[in-house]
Amino acid sequence: MQEIEQTLVAVAAQRLLDMRCPFCGDECTVICRKLRGNRRVSVYELLYGQALHHVVNEAKGREETYSYPTMPDLIKKGIALGYLPMKSLEGWNI
Ligand SMILES: [Zn+2]
Repeated sequence: MQEIEQTLVAVAAQRLLDMRCPFCGDECTVICRKLRGNRRVSVYELLYGQALHHVVNEAKGREETYSYPTMPDLIKKGIALGYLPMKSLEGWNI
């Protein structure tokens, strides 16, 4: 476990999502979708620094309190900013 802690710099999770259409909204027509240049957006959840240190300590059995932006948090932010449709949260049980 100590070797992992010394080597690990960050953990990243990526999710590729459909981008909300600026013209049609959440539901885009087939023709509009084909003509649009940017159709997908990637969302990254990054665990690093102090939060990673807390997670490694938790894996060792210690009780830790930490907080970092998780994938559902980042998707919610994307929805709030108008980049992602509401259906992006489907499957997260939120
Ligand atoms: Zn559209």
